[in-house]
Amino acid sequence: MHTASDVTQLIGNTPLLHLKQVSEKTGCTILGKAEFLNPGGSVKDRTALGIIRAAQASGELQPGGRIVEGTAGNTGIGLTLLANAMGYTSTVVMPLTQSKEKIDTLELLGADLRLVGATSYSDPNHYTHTAEKLAKKFAQREEHGAIWARQFDNLANMDIHCRTTGEEIWAQTEGKVDGFICAAGTGGTIAGVSVALKEHNPGIAIGLADPAGAALYEYVRSGELTPSEGSSIMEGIGINHITDNFAHAQVDVAFRISDEEALPYIFDLLKHEGLCLGGSAGINIAGAVRLAEHLGPGHTIVTILCDYGNRYQSKLFNPVFLENKGLPIPEWLVI
Ligand code: PMP
Repeated sequence: MHTASDVTQLIGNTPLLHLKQVSEKTGCTILGKAEFLNPGGSVKDRTALGIIRAAQASGELQPGGRIVEGTAGNTGIGLTLLANAMGYTSTVVMPLTQSKEKIDTLELLGADLRLVGATSYSDPNHYTHTAEKLAKKFAQREEHGAIWARQFDNLANMDIHCRTTGEEIWAQTEGKVDGFICAAGTGGTIAGVSVALKEHNPGIAIGLADPAGAALYEYVRSGELTPSEGSSIMEGIGINHITDNFAHAQVDVAFRISDEEALPYIFDLLKHEGLCLGGSAGINIAGAVRLAEHLGPGHTIVTILCDYGNRYQSKLFNPVFLENKGLPIPEWLVI
């Protein structure tokens, strides 16, 4: 019998999916790692598991303890599921600007959800700093203690991506991978995967797909943390400071990707390949196309399909929302 003993065993080992239209368009083989198939529905289940395992190993997380985290949503979803499965409790701090669907999911899972205003990272009320303060409070007053998961600077995040996501990509492509690209939220994915792939073959090109308004594009190009022009509706990605995780990323080339460039890939994948993806996957696929054009035809490029589109139905697939933002609306979406 082949069985999974618990929900943790459903995390990772996601397939690499051939993306037909973008492969044909570029003459490259573009593959997407189907991270939306994780039990919490996103790539961040890996991070949640990595952080919990590391905190168990260090003794920081006591049986029955509380895990507190600031999150754009997906890490909170992963942490809540794992806390439920592993005998912990969790508190999730999230900016209220995030999609209604992620808030609904966290409520469905029974998360102790604290919604806060969206501010810049330098503001002490930023959701990350709020999570830190709350974790300290819980640590003092809860019987089994509390930890702050600290996904931005906790290297257990990139470490699990190095050991799992990166190694899986190497094994699944049988080493025939020429490029990897994704956006950064905490930077855990790009750091972990880049370290794993470069260790196998330093010639593999690592690209950063940075959404409009984020500062890493300019940082990779010139070392200056200057936000690029514009802004983005894509959630979970786009940062203006160097996290401890991103500091380990081995990036060769960066591209600034606008929402106008990314959204048509999301719409075309749904209409023509039966795949309904979230916005960050659109930025990643647009980045994969740019990296393919940069490397030339005949190469194999891997990117991350971070989560499923139903998590953003009220935004990405809502013609009124798109129109108000001045973003492209596919004809078939208009009633
Ligand atoms: N896409 C989505 C939908 C996310 O939630 C996140 C995590 N914030 C990312 C991409 C970025 O991943 P990472 O934190 O590993 O950079």
